[in-house]
Amino acid sequence: MDAADIAQEIIERREADALAAHRANQAPISESRTHCIFCDEPIPQRRREILPGVRCCVECAD
Ligand SMILES: [Zn+2]
Repeated sequence: MDAADIAQEIIERREADALAAHRANQAPISESRTHCIFCDEPIPQRRREILPGVRCCVECAD
């Protein structure tokens, strides 16, 4: 394995990591988040039930 192969492997690994992180951030729409994506405050259960896929608290939604 030469330097170019090693570099290629590192790039591929980084792309795989980025893709995994991207997927983790994109939860299915039916799955509500437990915490606001903006302020990280817990999202009330009631709000999560009313708004499937909700991602932020009421303050940040305004
Ligand atoms: Zn918030």
